[in-house]
Amino acid sequence: MKNRANKKWVKFISLVLLMGLLVSYEHSSTAQNNELLLLEGARLVIGDGTVIENGSLLLEGNRILGVGDPSSVNAPANATVIDLSGKTIIPALIDAHGHLGYEAYTSWGSVNYGRANLLDNLERYAYYGFAAAFSAGSDPDDLAIELNTDQQAANATGARFLFAAGMAPPGQGPNNQFLTHALAVESDTGMTILRGAASAEQGRAAVREIAGKGIPFIKIWVDDRGGSQEKLSPEIYRAIIDEALERNIEVFVHQQAASDMPDLLDAGVSGFLHGRIENGMDDTLIAQIKEQDAFIIPNLGLGELRRERIADDAFLTDAIPQAVRESLGNVFDARPARTADFTAYEQALRDGFARLIAADVDIILGTDAGAVPNHYFGYAGHRELEIFVRLGMTPMQALVAATSKPAQRLGLSELGTLAVGKSADFIVLDANPLDNIRNTRTISQVYLRGVEIDRAALRSKWSTTPR
Ligand SMILES: [Zn+2]
Repeated sequence: MKNRANKKWVKFISLVLLMGLLVSYEHSSTAQNNELLLLEGARLVIGDGTVIENGSLLLEGNRILGVGDPSSVNAPANATVIDLSGKTIIPALIDAHGHLGYEAYTSWGSVNYGRANLLDNLERYAYYGFAAAFSAGSDPDDLAIELNTDQQAANATGARFLFAAGMAPPGQGPNNQFLTHALAVESDTGMTILRGAASAEQGRAAVREIAGKGIPFIKIWVDDRGGSQEKLSPEIYRAIIDEALERNIEVFVHQQAASDMPDLLDAGVSGFLHGRIENGMDDTLIAQIKEQDAFIIPNLGLGELRRERIADDAFLTDAIPQAVRESLGNVFDARPARTADFTAYEQALRDGFARLIAADVDIILGTDAGAVPNHYFGYAGHRELEIFVRLGMTPMQALVAATSKPAQRLGLSELGTLAVGKSADFIVLDANPLDNIRNTRTISQVYLRGVEIDRAALRSKWSTTPR
């Protein structure tokens, strides 16, 4: 009893502290609560596939009050007018597959996991223009629920935090390195991350427990990790998915083989966190994905960025300590030179991508950022967009895949497009991403919930102070 009362106090006090922090943020920001702000002259990429040249965006506090041609947006006389001619505004981005809490930019692992590092990771996302990040099955549930609740109650800064409960055979799930760290966080916090299911009935019982906590997403792993783990059997995942659907919980799946996808679709999964679009993505499977309205997260940067010396990319290194930049370069240089020929793989990717796009399957931005060391929040998302376009998407399609589509899939009704009534979450870019998707890097300003993120302050905090 006493313990529980203490916990409540800790929660209450941390909420009060958080609110205090936010009040001080708001005082220093430009957008006061009901202030009217008219942003004029920018190209508005709406997020639904349309664009308005020389548009007007009217904000009231944290909401979008008007959007359209200048003639259609009537700003009251007391609105502050800002001329953004030549700029492009896009909705803030969403990463539908990450793993927060483990990466602390000077080290990676369970030792970093906690509320402070989660908040740091969410700030990293915000810095890169992300309004929300979905942490896929690697967070202790009670801590994640508390952070989630506090964010909503206090209208917090930083990207919104979403998470899934994780399910796999007992003691398994994430890749072996990650698994060790997730289990360590479980033992450090005394909270549950991974719910093991050794039978259909255990799976159902775990789903009922997850439903009781109000968690709206479950991530399942269907992967034997090259023979090092047990693979979740169809009998068990069917029971899990059936029980979840009964309770309006969506099930997202980690799978490595396209051959597992038809049965997972038939069982009712909402989407795939690893695309496998280069292998086995035949027309029958694509038709089934479309028919069942499931989504695909290709998640290609996870492999690709390792083949690149990202320590040379100022878009990343501007916001990390010099020492980390150097070690990142050293780690890369110490690897054996890659001699593999990726030509055939690249062609297979392009073919799979083209067929998915032609079939109008929802391809969604997700990065797996944070699942392994040096795969960074936000940065990885911009890079994934480049890959989408290289493989055949138009820049407009790539932006839709990073805004309105993930918002729909994650139930983020106030995000994803520049539309009246939505939250004022957007990025002001110096150059047009419809000309070149790499222009999403030319970030002039990020607004989340109507408040401009102080990117210069974050950059200087992160680049000068090793954490
Ligand atoms: Zn993942």
